[in-house]
Amino acid sequence: MTDALPPITVTILGSGTCVPSIARSSCSVLMETGGEKLLFDAGAGTLRRMLECGVSIFDISFIFFSHFHPDHTAELVPFLFATKYSECSPRKKPLTLIAGKGFSAFYQGLKQAYGAWIELDTDILSIVEMNTLAPDRLDFDRFSVSTRPAAHNPESISYRIASPSGYSVVYSGDTDYTENLISLAADAQILICECSHADEEKVQGHLSPSLAGGIAASAGVQKLVLTHFYPRCDGFDIEKECRKAYNGELVLAEDLMRL
Ligand SMILES: [Zn+2]
Ligand SMILES: [Zn+2]
Repeated sequence: MTDALPPITVTILGSGTCVPSIARSSCSVLMETGGEKLLFDAGAGTLRRMLECGVSIFDISFIFFSHFHPDHTAELVPFLFATKYSECSPRKKPLTLIAGKGFSAFYQGLKQAYGAWIELDTDILSIVEMNTLAPDRLDFDRFSVSTRPAAHNPESISYRIASPSGYSVVYSGDTDYTENLISLAADAQILICECSHADEEKVQGHLSPSLAGGIAASAGVQKLVLTHFYPRCDGFDIEKECRKAYNGELVLAEDLMRL
């Protein structure tokens, strides 16, 4: 007998950063729930990693952006351009792009650079901007989305996806330590949390293993998945550093890992 799949399945597409890496593609996470495929961030390498999982761009119905840094948004342009390529099977289901305040202007800027090549019909593409100063929430037929401001860029937000049964997965995006992430992740089944640098090399705007562990412990999450590793993390015992603050289930993300 096999275990039933959880209400939300998670695949790490990219566990890396802006630093080019064969092992770690730039940041991206795929979630599947209620027959919908949701993409969280789309840094360089995302489209190839999707293909490696057997997922095409036409299967994706929502893309959520945590913020506008290129390691999280760079493959939006190839995604939209490929969607317009008529020899591919054309997109029939709508595509919704969700991000913090300023995303419409960001997309307008991309269209100024690339013109109609990345412009989709308004009956296919819709854009939703979430509040970047306060908690926000959206309810869809098959899941709900809650957000809180993250401590990184003005437009940065973290996401909590919940199934109708209450099963919840939280995606931090890039962030420094913030109580917002603790409240957003309260009692979640999975927290996918950035962990850019080892404790000794922590930089402003990002988390370290023990800070991420502290957030997970305070939130009482069932499973903590650390991701967004800069290459220098390889020289440190990330698990040991995280264990200073967290003793629950812990996973260090790798590309194409399925949870
Ligand atoms: Zn990043
Ligand atoms: Zn960033």
